[in-house]
Amino acid sequence: MKFSIERKDKIAELLAEEVREQLGSEAGIDQIEGALREIAKEVSGLGLQKVIEESEERYRCAVECGCGQVAHPIGKRSAVLWTVFGKVEYRRRYYVCSGCHVGQSPLDAKHGIKPGQTTGALASLLGIWGVEVSFEEASQLAERFLLFRVSDDEGAVPL
Ligand SMILES: [Zn+2]
Repeated sequence: MKFSIERKDKIAELLAEEVREQLGSEAGIDQIEGALREIAKEVSGLGLQKVIEESEERYRCAVECGCGQVAHPIGKRSAVLWTVFGKVEYRRRYYVCSGCHVGQSPLDAKHGIKPGQTTGALASLLGIWGVEVSFEEASQLAERFLLFRVSDDEGAVPL
């Protein structure tokens, strides 16, 4: 994927500015690298949230339910997605069927998202680690490399 060089420079400058402000000018390379990884993870999670939320199609007063009846909007609801950037929360319109009372979100369906579960990218990373090592070790590796903990307590879904 090719990125806009101009935009990439702007983002890099903002990241550098943030790290300089947080760490001062005496920070060592390990501190600087760690801080950049941490902020890149957080910013990317926020970016993912924005891309998902902003891709929501215009308001529809009804959508079709799997049972053949019609589902109506009941407002916006939050959902959680576990990604390589950690836990990402987003809000989207939620519809409930007047017949069978099953809920659905067209935005989730559009992106193939199952709220509360992992993205394919995270699942495949954890799967690879899971094959090589125990779940506990995979969880520790995730914490070390992805900078967040993957455990039953936190709600992430083990494979
Ligand atoms: Zn229904």
